[in-house]
Amino acid sequence: MEPTIFDLILSKEIPADVVYEDDFVMGFKDVNPQAPVHVLFIPKVQIKTHNDLNADNMDYVSKIHLAINAYAKQIGVAEDGYRIVMNCNGQGGQTVFHIHMHFLAGRQMQWPPG
Ligand code: 5GP
Repeated sequence: MEPTIFDLILSKEIPADVVYEDDFVMGFKDVNPQAPVHVLFIPKVQIKTHNDLNADNMDYVSKIHLAINAYAKQIGVAEDGYRIVMNCNGQGGQTVFHIHMHFLAGRQMQWPPG
């Protein structure tokens, strides 16, 4: 598979503001933030879209959720709240084809999203 921009961030070939990292997951600030806190959590393996999740790789999603819980507590937004979003393919608004969970916090979120 072609490396995406996020693969290049994972391999440190391009810089990112990394705020979380463990053996399975990396979290870095979105370059175009949509909230005071906007971090992208990605698995350290290439999974293109939500459609590509399966029994063999879905543990990465659990690890991402646990990473988000830890980070939300660490930065003190767990109780006020936050939004997590994963876009899938064209109509979902996905632009980078390495799954990523958007973590947005620090302002009142609206519903429905655009
Ligand atoms: P998507 O639209 O695929 O759900 O989200 C992709 C996100 O990646 C966007 O919010 C966009 O701002 C972010 N992004 C794209 N390129 C880069 C980059 O090179 N560095 C960082 N930190 N974020 C990026």
